[in-house]
Amino acid sequence: MKYDRFVDLVVIGGGPAGLSTAISAKKNGIDDILLLERELCLGGILNQCIHDGFGLHLFKENLTGPEYAQKQIDELKTLNISYLTDAMVINLTKSKELEFIHRTGHKLIKAKAVILAMGCRERTRFNIQIPGTRPSGIYTAGTAQNLVNLQNIKIGKNILILGSGDIGLIMARRLTLEGMNIAGVYEIMSYTAGLERNIQQCLNDYSIPLFLSSTVTEIFGKGRIEGVNIGKVDKDLKPITHSERFVKCDTLLLSVGLIPENELSKKAGVKITDFTGGAVVDSELQTNIEGIFSCGNVLQIHDLADYASLEAKRAGYFAARYIKSKQKRYNRYKINFCEKIKYASPNYIVENKEAIIVSFRIKKPAKNVVLIVKDRENNILVKKKFIRLLPSELIQIKLEREVKSDIYLEIE
Ligand SMILES: Cc1cc2nc3c(=O)[nH]c(=O)nc-3n(C[C@H](O)[C@H](O)[C@H](O)COP(=O)(O)OP(=O)(O)OC[C@H]3O[C@@H](n4cnc5c(N)ncnc54)[C@H](O)[C@@H]3O)c2cc1C
Repeated sequence: MKYDRFVDLVVIGGGPAGLSTAISAKKNGIDDILLLERELCLGGILNQCIHDGFGLHLFKENLTGPEYAQKQIDELKTLNISYLTDAMVINLTKSKELEFIHRTGHKLIKAKAVILAMGCRERTRFNIQIPGTRPSGIYTAGTAQNLVNLQNIKIGKNILILGSGDIGLIMARRLTLEGMNIAGVYEIMSYTAGLERNIQQCLNDYSIPLFLSSTVTEIFGKGRIEGVNIGKVDKDLKPITHSERFVKCDTLLLSVGLIPENELSKKAGVKITDFTGGAVVDSELQTNIEGIFSCGNVLQIHDLADYASLEAKRAGYFAARYIKSKQKRYNRYKINFCEKIKYASPNYIVENKEAIIVSFRIKKPAKNVVLIVKDRENNILVKKKFIRLLPSELIQIKLEREVKSDIYLEIE
């Protein structure tokens, strides 16, 4: 096969995870890096997040999304890391061959290691199958954010938001500030999906009503959406008969979850877990395909860009070590968890001397609980009290002690 180029490390995606992982790999001794981004500029989803609240952990500053991205882009450029924008990767094989389309043509390159950092996309009406007509005026919250913040387009006057995910909450505030009316935020669960700080700062501070255990059961309108039926749901999330009421709106925003963009990963034979929609990885963020690593929102949905960047930093470190030493894989142990936990990442622990970061989400809100992490001999590796745990919060713990067996995460 005739390759256009051989590269030590290719990073796919130029969002906070891609930028952070490329910077980390470079700082850990890899010079030959190529970062590929399909958009015209670097920064990923941060470019449309013009609100503040970014960078509090990583930069100890309260930044807007574009300011956060710019800091990483500046560092990438200072370190002379090569990148191409307008470069869409369309194929990846398990031998780490990549095909991408760029304005200079169709390219085929071969890498020693690849880091997947493609982010995620939003769930649409199709994904949640809302019955009714098919009028215009229905957007995912992130698309609305792009139209309003980057393209200066007014998307409607009277907006109803389905789902209390962070993007929907942020858009409720944004559209209010732009002079639009928010008819309400409706959430099918009996608790919110977004961060507490966003409930306070985006809804409560603007007196925007939030309705829990409620969902859109039907969409009405010819040409443009005219309103929706809202139904209360029971404990199995099924609409309760005769609970429905009509609510007028000319725009419906969906903030009903994110899906990691793993189509390329699957082409390469990367195993995907149903729990997160992300790759199955070990504690070095390496997938089942040797030399292919995954980080950021393509691995698991992070509620903060800082967490995506920090995870990506570790992926860059491990990818650099892999390229330099082609280290053999040591024993791998499984991470198991109790039924109160929705998922834990990574899926396996590689036996080595590095501290291991495990992140997890809980299924339902819980108060005054204790997390216990045990090994197979029932030795307690971590014991931590939580006054409350929320499904919207990604919890991270560090295992400092060397692990030499499967481990189990339990909530008591
Ligand atoms: C609307 C919204 C609001 C948010 N608000 C906050 C907030 O207030 N505070 C906070 O800390 N976090 C916030 N977040 C979360 C934060 O933005 C994400 O956690 C972070 O952007 C994830 O980084 P990433 O690099 O994994 O993904 P992304 O930022 O999505 O970057 C992925 C990049 O990969 C590129 N890509 C994908 N496929 C390909 C391909 N085949 N070829 C080439 N390039 C490809 C994409 O174009 C994109 O640029 C928000 C997220 C969203 C969606």
